[in-house]
Amino acid sequence: MKDTFGRDIDYLRISLTDRCNLRCVYCMPEEGVEQRSHDEILSFEEIERVVRMSTKFGIRHLRFTGGEPLVRKGMTDLVRACQQIEGIEDVALTTNGILLPTFAEELKEAGLSRVNISLDTLDDEVYRTMTRCGNLDEALSGVEAALEAGFDPVKLNTVVIRSMDQDLAAFAALTKDRPLHVRFIEYMPLGSSCSTEIARWNADEVIPLPELIDSLTAACEAAGLGTPYPLEEADAQAPEGWGPARYWKLPDSQGTIGFITSVSDHFCDSCNRLRLTADGKLRLCLFSDQEIDLRDALRHGTNEDLEKLFAQALAQKPESHEFRTGTRREMVQVGG
Ligand code: SAM
Ligand code: SF4
Repeated sequence: MKDTFGRDIDYLRISLTDRCNLRCVYCMPEEGVEQRSHDEILSFEEIERVVRMSTKFGIRHLRFTGGEPLVRKGMTDLVRACQQIEGIEDVALTTNGILLPTFAEELKEAGLSRVNISLDTLDDEVYRTMTRCGNLDEALSGVEAALEAGFDPVKLNTVVIRSMDQDLAAFAALTKDRPLHVRFIEYMPLGSSCSTEIARWNADEVIPLPELIDSLTAACEAAGLGTPYPLEEADAQAPEGWGPARYWKLPDSQGTIGFITSVSDHFCDSCNRLRLTADGKLRLCLFSDQEIDLRDALRHGTNEDLEKLFAQALAQKPESHEFRTGTRREMVQVGG
């Protein structure tokens, strides 16, 4: 269904939990966020009800996120249930990958279509610094598990932060021999990224796209990987679920390299998504704190009440985001 600005809203990102087994510096405060009680979080039955209702409004694509969605018990059952709902074409997952060695196969078997794994560095020490507690080997085992389970595409999401001096050519090298699609994501000024001690968000921490492409090209050439070149949107080599990224590629490589410029060159014109937080709020734009509460209607209202709220969300979805720093919720509470 179209919103007020003629955009087809067909994608719902659902946060399953505010909890996480990592503490990424740009996403959540070191001490974590205030834990919501069991009652405050939508049950799987409530999420399924929202999904069923949302298909009447044209939602076709789902993505589970968090916090870390895989820390929520029974998540595979939710995937199985949602992918069977009439009107839902695909169910995807965004994860830090740590728990994929345990769950990748059962998720594939349950009908999960795609997986995005967040991985910001291939250096042990930098990984520990950026996640405050993580072990790079565990995340890499998650990437292997996703490939072994047969997910295709497997996308790696890498938030680029200037002071972290990430080795971008090392990521590009991963796309050479494996069907991996790396996406370099612009650092966004949300929640605690504006107050964190390490890598505090400021405009200098964001590497502008032309500079990023230039330094990636130089690094790939220096490493003997060849010169990356841009793909056209219609290119058959682009990974399924093209989304807001622009894709490049190294010569003779299996994967691709994408760039997502959410802040400097936003893609609000083609925004097709709504977000559902773990505590049942429909969030109309990542950068806006405007939310519509579905939980009350889910627990005390009728299907009609719920539908009215969803229609209200479509009517109120803003045309574009205004650049501003800081949101009331942390990213870990929204789901990225
Ligand atoms: N825990 C899962 C994960 O890390 O993939 C899912 C939730 S996480 C909030 C979703 C995505 O948001 C991750 O790819 C993460 O890198 C990204 N993210 C979090 N904070 C961000 C920020 N300030 N700027 C850009 N991306 C951010
Ligand atoms: Fe957790 Fe993902 Fe946020 Fe990192 S980015 S703290 S893994 S929710």
